[in-house]
Parts: sequence; C-alpha cells; structure tokens
Amino acid sequence: MPEKNTAEIKLTGISASPGICIGKAYIVDREGVDVVEQYPVEENNINKEIKRFQTAVKHAKDELNRIIKNIPEELRQQAYILETHSLLLKDKMLYDRTIDTIRSERINAEWALKKVSSNLKTMFLDIADEYLRERAADIVQVSDRILRNLVGVETVNIAEIDKRVILVARDLSPADTSQINLGRIKGFITNLGGKASHTGIIARTLEIPAVLGLENATRIIKNDNILIIDGTTGTVIVNPTEATLIEFEDRRARYEEYKSLIGRSSHLPAETTDGIPLQAHGNIELPEEVFAVINYGGDGVGLYRTEFQYMNRPDFPTEDELFDKYKDVVEVMAPKSVTIRTLDINGDKALANQSVADEANPALGLRAIRYCLQKPDVFKTQLRAILRAAAFGNTRIMFPMISSYEEIVAAIRLLDEAAESLYRENIAFNRDIDVGIMVEVPSAVIMADVLAGAVDFFSIGTNDLIQYAMAIDRGNPLVAHLYHALHPANIRMIKHVADVAREKGIKVFMCGEMAGDPAYVPILLGLGMDELSMNPQSIPVVKSLIRSLSVAEAKTFITEVLKQPTVADVERLVRNTYGQILSAQMYTG
Ligand code: PEP
Ligand code: MG
Repeated sequence: MPEKNTAEIKLTGISASPGICIGKAYIVDREGVDVVEQYPVEENNINKEIKRFQTAVKHAKDELNRIIKNIPEELRQQAYILETHSLLLKDKMLYDRTIDTIRSERINAEWALKKVSSNLKTMFLDIADEYLRERAADIVQVSDRILRNLVGVETVNIAEIDKRVILVARDLSPADTSQINLGRIKGFITNLGGKASHTGIIARTLEIPAVLGLENATRIIKNDNILIIDGTTGTVIVNPTEATLIEFEDRRARYEEYKSLIGRSSHLPAETTDGIPLQAHGNIELPEEVFAVINYGGDGVGLYRTEFQYMNRPDFPTEDELFDKYKDVVEVMAPKSVTIRTLDINGDKALANQSVADEANPALGLRAIRYCLQKPDVFKTQLRAILRAAAFGNTRIMFPMISSYEEIVAAIRLLDEAAESLYRENIAFNRDIDVGIMVEVPSAVIMADVLAGAVDFFSIGTNDLIQYAMAIDRGNPLVAHLYHALHPANIRMIKHVADVAREKGIKVFMCGEMAGDPAYVPILLGLGMDELSMNPQSIPVVKSLIRSLSVAEAKTFITEVLKQPTVADVERLVRNTYGQILSAQMYTG
C-alpha cells in the first residue's frame, strides 16, 4: 500500500517564476542514477570499458539532438542550453578525464564518470559568482544523461505526460524543461536549483509558476497529491484544505486579472501621477533575453552583463564574436538604449581551464575593471566590439566595480585607443556614446562628486554595494538575514549618489536587484532615480506602480525614511504609508 499523507503541509522554497497554479502532483523520479556501482576492470578489458563509455556518450548526444530538433517554438531561444550540454558531453574536463580515470584507476565507467563529475561540481560550487555556481548543475545534468545511458535507466519522458499536472522533481534539466507542453504542465517545483538556474530561467520564459530549492519536495509529496504553487512568494501547499483551496483560487483569479491588466499598459511610457516620466529597463545576460525585455514593455536594456560569453570555454571570445552578440541586442532594441557593461569577472573565472581558488577573497580581488585594466588586450577587444555595435543603435557603455577616479581615466583612455584603432583600420564604429560607471563600491559613493566629472551617468549596483558597505558576502546564507536593501545605510548612500548626480548634471540609474522589487519603488522615486533596470518580468508591475505614485509625495516620504534608525522602522514606514497601494498593485495579499 502506498503511504498516505493527507494533512495540509506548507513548504517554502525559492520563488523562481511568479503566478499561482493548483493541480495534481506528478513525480519525475531520477533517484536511480544516484546509486552507482564500483567494480574493478581488468587490464585487458580497459579499452572495452572506454568504448562502453564512448557509446553511452554517443547515445546521450543522439538523445539531445532529437530533443533539440523537436523543441517547441516558444522555447527555441533556449535551444542554446541544450547545445551547450551537447558540447559538454565531449568537454575535456568531463570526457577526457573520465577516460583517464577508467584507465589509471582501472575502474568501471559509471564510477569514473561519477567521480569526475563530483569533483567538477565541487569546483564550481566554490565559485562566489551565483551564475557560475549554477553551471555546476549543467555538468551534473550532462553526466546524469551519460550515466542513464550506461546504466540503462528508463527516463520519464516529459513530452509524453498526457495529464494536466504539476511536475515535482529533484531537479529538471534544460532537456526536460524544453519538452514541457504548456497545455499539460501547469507549473513545477524542484528540490534543487536557484533563481539563476536554467530551470528558473525557462519557467520565467514559459511564464508558469515555479518554486525551486525546496530540498525535500520529492520525499514529502506523493503522486496525485493536490498542490498549490505560489511562485510569487515561493510557497507550495500540499494537500490544501477546502478553505485554503478557495483562498488560493481567489488569489489566482485576481493575479491573472491583474497580470493581463498591467501587461496591456506595460508598453506605454510610465509617468507618475504628478507627471514625471520614469523609465523601466531590463537586465539581460544573454542576447536572447532582449526579447523578454521587449515583451514586457521595457524602455531599454539598462544592464547587459557581458561575462557569459567568456564562460565555458578555454579561450577568450574574438572581437567579431562579441560584436555579433552586442549588435544583435543593439539592433533589436533600437531606438531604445542598450547599456553594455564591460567584463565583470575575475580572471580565473574567465578561463574555464584555470583554477579558481587562487585568491583568498575573490570578491575583493582582481575582479571586473581591475582585471580588465591588467589585461588591456582582452579589454580592448571588448571595447572595440562595443564601439562597433554602437554604430547600429543607441548604445551606452558602463564600467563595473569602479573604486577610484584613476580607473575611469584609464578605462576611458583604452576606450579612446580602441576607437582610434578602428578609425585607422577604417572599420565603422561610434565613439559618441554615453560613458558611465556602476556605483557599487563604497569609495565610489564617497567620491561621487569627483567621479561625476568624468562620466555621463551613474548606475547604482545595490547587489555589490550592500555587500561591500555592510561587509556581508552576498552569497553567504549565514549572513543573508543581515543583507537588506532597506538598511538605512543603503538608503543614505543612494541618496548621496543621487543628490551629487543631480548637482553635477549627470543621470543616475539603478540596476541592482533593489530596482526590480515593487515594494521599493516609492523609496526609489523619492530618492530621485532617473531610470530603473530590473529582471524583465518585473517591468509591468514596476511601471504600474510608477503610474500610481507621486514623486512630490515620495520625496516628502524620504525625509521621514532618512530619520529611521533600523530596517524594521523603514519597513514599518513603507507599510504604513504605501501598504495599501503596494498590496493593491502587487496582489500579494
Ligand atoms: C550589482 O552589483 O548590483 C549589479 C547589478 O551587478 P552584478 O549583480 O552583476 O554584480
Ligand atoms: Mg555588481
């Protein structure tokens, strides 16, 4: 008899894609792959064992090719993830090392593969950068696919699910999620995964509710259990009572109504009730994401993170490769602006085949502009690509991690040299673009008046600014409770930067996560931001809020906020002053 679990249980995970859905659980079981046998292989059978591994890789490749061929239209943009997986199958770090391990340790292919992939996973998990850390999941998924072929485990074919269900899985690979049929799958939840995982990215692309990182979902939930997913709050309710069902059914209906309402007006410019326009831009990491910015009514791309073209490869991208990626985005977005941020990466992270553990404090190390100024050739290649793309549309350039005036001077000198070299070579480019910096290091806040003289705009990066100003590692769960955008120190720093920018006649934007949280919009309006840039999905709600607020009132409100001693006091003030507007606009209540 299967165990019964009938009491209502509430689980909390990471909200990966907003929205509410109610349905029956469908467990996608992948646990079989975790149990791997180890046995020795005799010297004269080693080549046979290697062949067995190579055959499994070949089958895995054929499977992936089949999936890529059949990928539905709405997920075409995501095919690159599967193509990356296809390349990873033969990646030196995975493929060659597994063969070496079979040979040197004389062990079976399953064990060698599991050993190599576990080591790679540990290496990736040590990386501070969240996006890179999530790439560990790619390696695990690729090696799982090979393992399944070696062991001969049957896999649930998501494309063949013929009921309207909610998927419950330990993890879902891009190959799984790319087969999701929107007519069938209402939403999904997983034990593993974070906001920046591909699973999360795909859920947002498909616009189905998803909660990730639930840890125990597959253990607690049984097939056919009734589930409610609230992707907005990261909540999952198992076996809801009648009363809970009615409550969430009502919330779901209101949420859908609200989404269609704000979606309809999102393409129009947003102006406050006292007539001040405020632009909402989108943050992107991959060129394809520009379409999400357009679909959600973004007024531009306020942060194009460019590091991802440098990852998962042993060499640096060429100028032409980069130019193509930048030009695609700039052209699609034109006449709206695209703010391209130069490489924000640590040298070791840029090269997939180098070790990453050399620096004791990578966040305080040779990162971003520091790295680029030490590698002028790498930097100039990127600067030339950006200047060339700028000939095709409205482009801005932005330098990350600026901590002193000299860094701006040095970066601009290299930008000018890049322009001169293009001129000499008779290659089309545009140097007449706005040049800005990210304000994300406390020294840049303090020196804002001096730095303002050298640039056209500031863009405040709260993700790092909070980390550096309050000495809280942004990726460390032990201190996550201290990391708060409404910390009075953070608000004061933003106020200072905005005031200086206004005084010096330059623009001030925000592109850190704080800009995309609707609850902070009244504060950001009051602080005087000229533009907010956020994850594309947040654009409609932020625009809708802008339309219901007045800058004059928000400015008065800020004078009160600045008197508050603690985060809790600021939160209380926000709730008391704007609680009603916020809950009406966000449908969280
Ligand atoms: C930031 O630090 O706020 C920011 C936008 O940059 P990233 O998250 O890429 O470091
Ligand atoms: Mg940053």
